[in-house]
Amino acid sequence: MNAERIKKEIICTVCPRGCRIEAVGVGDMVETVDGYSCKRGLEYATAEFAHPVRILTTTVKMEGVQNDLLPVRSAKPVPKEKLFACMDVIRKTVVKVPVACHEVVISNICDTGIDMIATKTVE
Ligand code: SF4
Repeated sequence: MNAERIKKEIICTVCPRGCRIEAVGVGDMVETVDGYSCKRGLEYATAEFAHPVRILTTTVKMEGVQNDLLPVRSAKPVPKEKLFACMDVIRKTVVKVPVACHEVVISNICDTGIDMIATKTVE
């Protein structure tokens, strides 16, 4: 099999310096990583190349509330390939109020093992 070599530009978000890292590899196997300034950046870029994840930040509807939405985020980073499926679930969700900040509003979204939590208290 002749798998194609791919190059990914990755901004390291581990610290505010935001190093611009270039990772090259095949499939999810990284071969070279350049541009990082410390070991944490190398680890971040290697993981991001193989398995990109993102904290999902968005809003959901609230039951009986017309002109406001509840801000929510994933408790942990969500695999990038699951983001659209998660957004489908979030769009169909209506949260009961009151809700407390950090309360779980959707548990184990899309079988990721990750909860969506409120980032605001609504009385
Ligand atoms: S590579 Fe190191 S110094 Fe650069 S942004 Fe990442 S953690 Fe910070």
